[in-house]
Amino acid sequence: MSASRARTRHDAVRIIEAKRDGRELDDDEIDWIVDGFTRGVVAPEQMSALAMAIYFRGMSDRETARWTAAMVGTGTRLDLTGLTRGGRLVPTVDKHSTGGVGDAITLVLTPLLATWDVAVPQLSGRGLGHTGGTLDKLESIPGWRARLDAGEMRSVLSRTGAVICAAGADLAPADRDLYALRDVTGTVPSIPMLAASIMSKKIAEGTGALVLDVKFGSGAFRPARADAEELARLMVGIGQASGVRTSALVTAMHTPLGRAVGNALEVAEAVEILDGGGPADMVELTCALAREALAAVGIADADPHERLTDGRAMDSFRAMIAAQGGDPDASLPRAAHTEELRAPGPGRLTWDALGVGRASWLSGAGRSRPGQAVDPAAGVVLHRVEGDEVAAGDPVATVHAGDPGRLPAALEELRGALGVDARPAGAGARGRGPAGTVVGVVRGW
Ligand code: URA
Repeated sequence: MSASRARTRHDAVRIIEAKRDGRELDDDEIDWIVDGFTRGVVAPEQMSALAMAIYFRGMSDRETARWTAAMVGTGTRLDLTGLTRGGRLVPTVDKHSTGGVGDAITLVLTPLLATWDVAVPQLSGRGLGHTGGTLDKLESIPGWRARLDAGEMRSVLSRTGAVICAAGADLAPADRDLYALRDVTGTVPSIPMLAASIMSKKIAEGTGALVLDVKFGSGAFRPARADAEELARLMVGIGQASGVRTSALVTAMHTPLGRAVGNALEVAEAVEILDGGGPADMVELTCALAREALAAVGIADADPHERLTDGRAMDSFRAMIAAQGGDPDASLPRAAHTEELRAPGPGRLTWDALGVGRASWLSGAGRSRPGQAVDPAAGVVLHRVEGDEVAAGDPVATVHAGDPGRLPAALEELRGALGVDARPAGAGARGRGPAGTVVGVVRGW
């Protein structure tokens, strides 16, 4: 029987009580409550209570897999089999990051992968809180459209090999509604619900292979490395069980990736990388994810660095942007107001990812409720990154904002995210390494 329709009539209160008391839910109960919530039979307050019970009691691997399947079953699963490029059948492969600060890798990785004979159906989301959203970033490119129907998406994929667009309303609708509840009930970081939320959308989008970038560190939903490893294991298992060749890299997010945090600022940094330059941490992680994604579809010994430097990835990016109405040559929006932060003393610098993400959010780059407009030009640019030696008074970062009233709070937050350690080399909290350092790989195939 399909995961979307349960046979038995259940009672939401009994299911909440069962989870509250630590009992495993059976398949039928899971199907019923997920489906019932989506159809309005289960009230939001009941689903909120269940989310909190799951947050504290957890779910077994079986429950999580069933919960994921039930969410997929509330909508349609796209069928991307038979997709061709230039008349040749190509495999589909996608990437997902569990969210970070300054993480513009999707903007580079998607067109980079499309320089091989693959198609990348990247259905992305918007930023909420301190983490940015890929669609918000790309919308800073004049003319670019996030909304494509299924036919347009397939056509862009066939023509360019890469599409980044908004998920349609029919893609795991249970997740959309549940995510909104989790967001306002403090239950987002539940590992099984994170896994089910992310994997339900990736399974429903119809990709054949998937590489996950699972973050740990202050900028991640789950800062502890062990939690990121558990999340990676769980998501890889769910992907494999659903026929998606899935692997995960577990990567560091204690300090921001790259130097730019904010929408247009991150697009500009992505373009630098596509032009053969850009920050080394972003380039390295992009290439590591590219090799993993390509290996999943049977392309071994790929050299992503070469395609970032010889112009192929840039050509692919330009084609992808133009296919969605964007002008790849248009100037990006620039903030009318900027203010610099200077080092308070000499020493070696650290940046806390969460604090920098919050500073960018306060400058206007993020939203505090769904649907709110973001300032495309707002954000933070780091002039010095973690590990750099600075002298007192050196400019270390600039905050950008369209609204000057936002600058003081953003600067204050950024000041709090900055650490300058004056002790001699070898002492103190050193050696955290750059953001994006890969500390583990979980491969399901
Ligand atoms: N991204 C998702 O898609 N779901 C979550 O729960 C968190 C981040």
